[in-house]
Amino acid sequence: MIDFGYKIQADRQINLDTTDKDLANFVRKHENSFNICIGCGTCTASCSAGNFTNFNFRKLQLFICRGEIADVKTEIAKCMLCGKCQLACPRGVNTRNVIMTIRKGLEEQL
Ligand code: SF4
Ligand code: SF4
Repeated sequence: MIDFGYKIQADRQINLDTTDKDLANFVRKHENSFNICIGCGTCTASCSAGNFTNFNFRKLQLFICRGEIADVKTEIAKCMLCGKCQLACPRGVNTRNVIMTIRKGLEEQL
């Protein structure tokens, strides 16, 4: 095969009508500020874990909203709960508590 310097990625469509929303609903119920996250990514620039890994809070937020629970489980272990993202957030999202709530939800196997 000729190497053009890029390759076609596998199709990655997500049917939001059929994804698992239990964890997202659990987080929204127990940490209200999750509802006002606009996915702006300001927290991403400040993420301590993002200095060492490809983790950031915004990616986690997207995985939860899309119901991609396997990816949430993989990613959330990388957060060090330092709280820098919370200081940077223009919406006042309680990011540390969001992460703690996600962990609690995963423990309860939602
Ligand atoms: S900075 Fe706040 S509003 Fe923006 S993506 Fe992060 S948590 Fe959401
Ligand atoms: S609390 Fe977690 S997501 Fe937020 S800046 Fe620290 S390592 Fe990143």
